[in-house]
Amino acid sequence: MTAVLECRDVTRRYDTPGGTVHALRGVSLTIARGEYVAIVGPSGSGKSTLLTLMGGLDRPSSGEVLVDGTPLAALRDRDLTRLRLRRLGFVFQRFHLLPVLTARENVELPMAEAGVPAAERRARADELLAYVGLAARAGHRATQLSGGEMQRVAVARALANRPALLLADEPTGELDAATGRGIMELFARLNADGTTIVVVTHDERLAAEARREIHMLDGRIEREAAGQGRA
Ligand code: ADP
Repeated sequence: MTAVLECRDVTRRYDTPGGTVHALRGVSLTIARGEYVAIVGPSGSGKSTLLTLMGGLDRPSSGEVLVDGTPLAALRDRDLTRLRLRRLGFVFQRFHLLPVLTARENVELPMAEAGVPAAERRARADELLAYVGLAARAGHRATQLSGGEMQRVAVARALANRPALLLADEPTGELDAATGRGIMELFARLNADGTTIVVVTHDERLAAEARREIHMLDGRIEREAAGQGRA
């Protein structure tokens, strides 16, 4: 079966006035459908850079990233944008919701971009908000929600177009411990229900929730371990 995601000897250099920074020094990994992978490691070890390349938000200096068997480098910008919209879901530390829109409208947005008809959009948004436990908040503006609620909306939005892969960068980083716990439980449930997840995190409890831990050090995979994965 085709891997959902594959990195082949991926490097990323940044040329800065102070010299060249080798953020990734050659990373190869394969992620199969249904996996729940945590990427952990010290600050500056290349975790965010790797996630950004996996999501096609940036291009590697060398090496290849393939999503569903498609090499991202082969795609024109328009096709890359389309692939991101339809095959990948993103969850960020700082939610990135549009404040003037309601929770429902925020979840509908990626579906609108993908051309899903309005009635279907609304029905799916409500279904997703119920899934993340926010049915009662659908009509509230993003600014009227707590941090944990905003992150639930962001997760619902990321799932809107039924992505093959959910990429999350420090999704509990802005949340207090109890609220973070709720998001971790949501991720475990998502994975149990079939979503493939890659999460970058400093949060050891969140990492332990995953079934596979990739430890980064100095731009390389230092080692891998099986997580405890309760699912
Ligand atoms: P992590 O997510 O593990 O904290 P990053 O992937 O953010 O690590 O960063 C890896 C290295 O690349 C760090 O040394 C960082 O300073 C450097 N880096 C990241 N982004 C840039 C950039 N846009 N320009 C220059 N250096 C960068």
